[in-house]
Amino acid sequence: MLELRELVVAYGAVRALDGVSLTAAKGGITAVLGANGAGKTTLLRAVSGLVRPRSGEVLLDGRDIGRLPAEEITRLGVAHVPESGGVIIELTVEENLRLGGLWRRENAALRRQISEIYDLFPPLRVRQGRVAATLSGGERQMLALGRALVSRPRLLLMDEPSLGLAPRVAAQIMAVLRRQRDEQGLTVVLVEQNARSALSVADHAVVLSLGSVAAEIAQGEAIDDRLRHAYLGF
Ligand code: ATP
Repeated sequence: MLELRELVVAYGAVRALDGVSLTAAKGGITAVLGANGAGKTTLLRAVSGLVRPRSGEVLLDGRDIGRLPAEEITRLGVAHVPESGGVIIELTVEENLRLGGLWRRENAALRRQISEIYDLFPPLRVRQGRVAATLSGGERQMLALGRALVSRPRLLLMDEPSLGLAPRVAAQIMAVLRRQRDEQGLTVVLVEQNARSALSVADHAVVLSLGSVAAEIAQGEAIDDRLRHAYLGF
């Protein structure tokens, strides 16, 4: 579904991605791991059109989307949940979820989808009329993911959903990603510094280091100590 070919993204003289190639298979969860500054966030931003590749290709179902405007990429079914979640704290939970459905015109379908999100994340149903500013970090992350899911994406890009969350809450988020993959066939690219958490759901992982792919890990593959110590931090 998503293929990056020799992708180079630079901020001035800093090459944040220096020739990255990877494939995220349809209906799978691909984890992108690596230390601070490895280029993980930049990779997601390049896919969703927030930064322009200097060279290389971003192929979505074979079509190069690397130079399309971000709104058009959203319309093609790519949803991006940024690191902080990006919910609008002045709006209520329900209003944030409705924003996720802006592209969808039919009201009844939108209501149904929002109700499905409340089934996935019961704390959001309880707090639907509250402004997002009153939510805990975990609830905000649920709301950010819920808002992205309301748009019924084909490809979901998630940036560090477990950052700053209690392990139990992070596990809930991962469980929802797993369910969306299994039941809806959703394709996910999951950026995480928490390698253990990401590997618990990923079908395949790519480890970035200084803008390059340092290793790839297949599901269930034994991870040697060198890789673990050098890049994964556990
Ligand atoms: P983190 O976990 O800290 O977000 P990351 O793996 O997501 O790290 P990126 O944020 O993609 O890494 O950053 C990759 C490199 O690009 C780093 O050297 C970073 O300092 C640099 N960089 C990122 N954004 C910018 C920017 N807007 N301007 C200049 N340099 C940037």
